[in-house]
Amino acid sequence: MQILWNEYDARCISCGRCNFVCPTCTCYTMQDMRYKEKLSNGERRRVWASCMIAGFTDVAGGGKERPKVSQRMRFKVLHKVYDYKKRTGQQMCIGCGRCDDVCPEYISFSTSVNKLQSAMEEILND
Ligand code: SF4
Ligand code: SF4
Repeated sequence: MQILWNEYDARCISCGRCNFVCPTCTCYTMQDMRYKEKLSNGERRRVWASCMIAGFTDVAGGGKERPKVSQRMRFKVLHKVYDYKKRTGQQMCIGCGRCDDVCPEYISFSTSVNKLQSAMEEILND
């Protein structure tokens, strides 16, 4: 099944735009900032994060859970159309198409979902 996602290693540039425009993506990270006027003062900011960007799954000790783009694409698509629904009973993706419109590499989320469906039908009909 991983072979289905391999094309994205060559196509996707991991910019994260598809996540940043998605109305159902809510992942964030933290940034600590020091004020240059007084370095002992600062603030902790909550900023957007993206599961498509390299480093999103880095963990303590140097581990990388999804180092390849194809792995990140697989995670994103399955999270939107499978995992979330399995957990909550609700469909996550609302089909707005913003991710398709904004991708600089013309990668279509809906096409990737259709490919996933075809692959699953192939497996189930074998
Ligand atoms: S089509 Fe789905 S995955 Fe794409 S931006 Fe809209 S809700 Fe998000
Ligand atoms: S917007 Fe396109 S190129 Fe950027 S991370 Fe998403 S799929 Fe990859």
